[in-house]
Amino acid sequence: MTIRGGCLCGGIRYEIDGPLGTSVYCHCSMCRKFHGSAFRARLSVPKTSFKFLKGEELLTKYRSSADTVKSFCKVCGSAMVNQWDPEAESWGLAMGSLDDDPGVRPSMHIFVGSKALWHDITDELPKYKTFPGADE
Ligand SMILES: [Zn+2]
Ligand SMILES: [Zn+2]
Repeated sequence: MTIRGGCLCGGIRYEIDGPLGTSVYCHCSMCRKFHGSAFRARLSVPKTSFKFLKGEELLTKYRSSADTVKSFCKVCGSAMVNQWDPEAESWGLAMGSLDDDPGVRPSMHIFVGSKALWHDITDELPKYKTFPGADE
């Protein structure tokens, strides 16, 4: 199944063909600022499954921490793909940029220890103060 997506202005378009990773809602303060929203919906996409159809030159990169680079469209500001570590085999895709249903649903909330005070989580998904496996 091929799924497509892109940025708000349409300058950047991509397609994904292949297996997808997990999806999470991230409530960390950096995601909140970056997305201007209560949380980030992130889908892990293997780089081998992901292809830019156009506009890759419009991607602007911002290093938000020593090992994280976030990218967005320089025309419209839409969040695109993040990379946690240069050697990582997957992108962290901003799920809101998808046009099609990836079939995958977010399975947990992470970094709820820093979630927005004005936002209440009302679903039953597992919640982690930081991420699964970390000391709570
Ligand atoms: Zn754009
Ligand atoms: Zn985050």
